[in-house]
Amino acid sequence: SSLELKDASLLRGDCFIAGEWRNAASGKVITVTNPATGAQVGVVPSLSAIETREAIDGANAALPAWSARTGKERAAILRRWFEIIMANQDDLAAIMTAEQGKPLAESRGEIAYAASYIEWFAEEAKRIYGDTIPGFSADRRIVVLKQPIGVCAAITPWNFPAAMITRKAGPALAAGCTMVVKPASQTPLSALALCVLAERAGVPAGVLSCVTGSAREIGGELTANPIVRKLSFTGSTEVGKVLLKQCADTVKRTSMELGGNAPFIVFDDADLDAAVEGAIASKYRNAGQTCVCANRLFAQAGIYDAFVEKLSRRVATLRVADGASEGAEIGPLIDEAALSKVEELIEDAVGRGGRVTVGGKRHALGRTYFEPTVIAGATPEMDIFREEIFGPVAPVIRFDGEAEAIRLANSTQYGLAAYFYGRDISRVWRVAEALEFGIVGINQGLISTEVAPFGGMKESGNGREGSKYGIEDYLELKYLCMGI
Ligand code: ADP
Repeated sequence: SSLELKDASLLRGDCFIAGEWRNAASGKVITVTNPATGAQVGVVPSLSAIETREAIDGANAALPAWSARTGKERAAILRRWFEIIMANQDDLAAIMTAEQGKPLAESRGEIAYAASYIEWFAEEAKRIYGDTIPGFSADRRIVVLKQPIGVCAAITPWNFPAAMITRKAGPALAAGCTMVVKPASQTPLSALALCVLAERAGVPAGVLSCVTGSAREIGGELTANPIVRKLSFTGSTEVGKVLLKQCADTVKRTSMELGGNAPFIVFDDADLDAAVEGAIASKYRNAGQTCVCANRLFAQAGIYDAFVEKLSRRVATLRVADGASEGAEIGPLIDEAALSKVEELIEDAVGRGGRVTVGGKRHALGRTYFEPTVIAGATPEMDIFREEIFGPVAPVIRFDGEAEAIRLANSTQYGLAAYFYGRDISRVWRVAEALEFGIVGINQGLISTEVAPFGGMKESGNGREGSKYGIEDYLELKYLCMGI
């Protein structure tokens, strides 16, 4: 590998199963490539259902001792994991940029963000409070306990190779659960590096395992195995629905962080410069490949032209480059399929009267680089209005009134993030309450933080990650009825 790390032992070519580093019995591997260069970054095992079962058995064996520790004991180990992740921030960021493509500055940011979930839930491990309820008769007392669900599975995507793992493993381990993680095949190296550091931090064998390989085979075992009591998934709505069906047979608890189709509404009274910067942050981060990226921009008639012009001028300044190079702002898309999808959406939009004001085509750098794009004159009839773009393309739709904006914004099966810019305080409250989305950014384009609950409504999923609410996704309530 051409990757230069301070600590080369973070780059693994094997998987972490019940405390052992192992290769596939079949000898099969998956090659991980750098989307910016096409170069091989590493290889990881392509594991089967058999090895997945071993990881699940290991998690089950580790469960009694792990869940029996006090919250404070688990917190101390998690705190060490947080500190070791931060101490290795540069190497972890370099691995991430190499396998995922995002600019190094964003990778460094993601490592800090990922670590913050471990820190937060280390703190929460000590605060898993139950309840007492006044009895319904003089000779009964009612107590509510919160207990770990048990063995959990996580299936995670490639767009946030570290944070989507720590958001699940952090609360799971803090709650006293054990976990088997299957990272996306495009970005398994970040996941394995996190396991190296978990082991160093003193996470006991079997408490956290990581298996790489065929989604269908590993996912099949994780969802069918009755030992697994909970699945947490982040990815597309399409795959999430498949996994929910697979989990139905053993009635697993699930947390689903699925797709989004975020509206970004700019009202006439908005601070336009702030709205443009918010749109840049929300739309173009990670080259548009996040589930909370603004997908449909709505601008009110009075400021429509001015907003499109300002936004287009700003987008033209975004620096497209290999994420590992100095000052890169937009890296390549993850793969060819992502590139084709963006091209098709633009072709459809232009065919229906959309006007490209900046960008619109593959970037001169080649590979999977795409020019940051703005499309004026977008309408609800276009495919881009309904589909998750997952690329650096911003369609801007004109609207007249507040009610119309709310109706259009809500006219989607998704309900993850929404954003709007405006200064009329009454309208701010009205719109915030009317939007059918789990997260609403008001005069703010960046909403992700470990201290707030992240999650969606409608077909964007169920459950919440982060905040005091996030740990509930890994806890069962048990009611004790005591006769005295
Ligand atoms: P994206 O569109 O972000 O790639 P996907 O939903 O396709 O999202 O993938 C997210 C994660 O789900 C990845 O780890 C992928 O390997 C996994 N995955 C995809 N299809 C399946 C499946 N049928 N069963 C289990 N896991 C799957």
